[in-house]
Order: sequence, then C-alpha cells, then structure tokens
Amino acid sequence: MPYTAPINPEEAFRFLESNNPKIVAGCTDYFPGLQQGQIDEDLLDVTRINGMRGITHTETGWRIGGATTWTDVVRASLPPAFDALKLAAHEVGSLQIQNQGTVAGNICNASPAADGVPPLLALNAQVEVGSMTGRRIVALSDFIMGVRQIDLNPDEMVIAIHIPDISRAANSGFAKLGSRKHLVISIAMVGAVVEEHALREQVDDLLPVPQVVVGFIDQPVVVDFFAMQGGAEEFGEFALRELLGDRLEIGRADAEDVEHDTVPAGEDLGG
Ligand SMILES: Cc1cc2nc3c(=O)[nH]c(=O)nc-3n(C[C@H](O)[C@H](O)[C@H](O)COP(=O)(O)OP(=O)(O)OC[C@H]3O[C@@H](n4cnc5c(N)ncnc54)[C@H](O)[C@@H]3O)c2cc1C
Repeated sequence: MPYTAPINPEEAFRFLESNNPKIVAGCTDYFPGLQQGQIDEDLLDVTRINGMRGITHTETGWRIGGATTWTDVVRASLPPAFDALKLAAHEVGSLQIQNQGTVAGNICNASPAADGVPPLLALNAQVEVGSMTGRRIVALSDFIMGVRQIDLNPDEMVIAIHIPDISRAANSGFAKLGSRKHLVISIAMVGAVVEEHALREQVDDLLPVPQVVVGFIDQPVVVDFFAMQGGAEEFGEFALRELLGDRLEIGRADAEDVEHDTVPAGEDLGG
C-alpha cells in the first residue's frame, strides 16, 4: 500500500498514471467509508501539492485550490456573493471536520448531502481537472453526474475550482434542513446568489435570473426562481424566506409595482 504526498504536481500526475491510486485530502469522507478500517489501495495525498491550497483572485474570477479546506473558506476575505459558501462551510460537521475537509473532496464525493454543492452551483463554479496529458475545465453542473458519480478519469485529479467574477452587489444565502439543529447531515439544503436589482427588474428581463439551487435526495437542481414562487412549492417558500428574509417581499412588491405600471388593472394583454 504505497502512500505518497508529493509537493510537485507532475509527481502527483505520474503517480496517478503509474499506480492508479485513491486520491485523498482531508479523509473525512474516505475514512468513514472504509470497510472495517482496511486500506487495500495506493493512496495519493494531494494536500501538500504546491498551489493546491488557498483562495486567490485571478483575472477572470476566484480560484479555490483543490486542497482548500472549509476553514480556509471561512477565513478568506470574499465578496458577499460567497456568503452562501461560507455559511455552508460553517455547517460542514464540526470545527475539526472543517479544518481537515476540503471543498474539492466535498464535490468529488458527490453525496446528495454535500453542503458545498448548492452554493457552488449558484456561483456557476467550474472545475479544473489535470493529468499528465493536460488540463480541462468542466462546469460543476456537468462534473457531478449523479450520486457518487463524477466526470473524472482515473489518471486525473481536481486542481482547482473556479468562480467567474461576480458583482459586489450580489448577495447570497444558504439554508440547511436536518433532523436537528447542529452537526447534522442535510436532508435538504438550498444555496442562492441574487442581485437585488435583478429581483426588481426581472419582469423586464433585463438582468440575469437569480440562481437558486436546491440540493436533496438525488442531485442538486437549479430552480427557476420565479416559477418556484408561482408554484408556491412549500419548500421553495421556506427556503426563499430563510435566505432572503425581507428582501424577498421587497423584490416581490417592486416586481408587482412594475407590472401594475405596464399593465393597467383589469386589462387583458391577450396572447
Ligand atoms: C463527522 C462528519 C461530519 C460531516 N458533516 C458534513 C456536513 O455537515 N456536510 C457535508 O457536506 N459533509 C459533511 N461531512 C463529509 C466531509 O467532511 C466533506 O464532504 C468534506 O468536504 C470532504 O473533504 P475531504 O478533503 O475530507 O475529502 P476526502 O475524504 O479526502 O475525499 C473525498 C472524495 O474526494 C476525492 N478527492 C478529494 N480531493 C480530490 C482531488 N483534489 N481530486 C480528485 N478527487 C479528490 C477522494 O478520492 C474521495 O473520493 C462530514 C464528515 C464527517 C466525518
């Protein structure tokens, strides 16, 4: 059972190609999943690879290194659109789990209860995957193909997660529903990134639709924000109220005002 913790990414890629190892980071998903504690495979520890840890601002957005822990997320100075991810980070197990567990480990485990996934999807996250033969970028929505299924070849590892630049005016939130208040695996959770003026001007289709992602049972789904309100789905209402509080009512009232300005009461536009 060779174990290696390289510093150089090329060394890691070579080990991936030659030994077909299991990649590990914080091991907070890997260890509990072991059958009777037996390790019968080669291990590649990615936590010491240069450039794999930390959050940086790049020319096009934000880069979350492939060995960045939840504690790193909590401590990073990030715009308000990342508040949902920070709230999720606070909810991943205990402080000890947050110190060890990584964002990449959370998405690669592809559990329906992975708290990091809805906020990352709402931020339009992209996953950078690397191997000896090069690097490729895949949208997180495509990377997670199903429960415990990801778009990753045996010779590849996740190098980083990229978030496109986002307005400082964008707000975000995260709410999780579990069987108790703290230290609990999610039954359902929701992450949303919303620009307040997008709420107001949605009726004119001027600005992008707010991103609301609900995760539960099977796979996270991106929800059509306004369809969800129209359908008055119970969980959607609960989640939106938890996330947006007063801003939800303000957004709805403003949207109604605009509708009343354009369509006088009682007048039918036909169609
Ligand atoms: C007590 C406890 C409580 C928990 N509570 C929560 C919770 O509330 N919410 C929640 O979402 N999760 C929770 N978890 C699960 C876990 O802590 C998180 O999913 C964590 O983010 C996993 O990260 P890790 O670095 O420990 O992953 P690891 O266990 O090291 O790896 C997990 C998977 O990802 C793969 N992997 C890791 N890094 C890479 C990489 N760079 N490239 C390719 N593949 C990679 C591994 O091969 C493995 O399949 C809990 C776990 C425990 C033990």
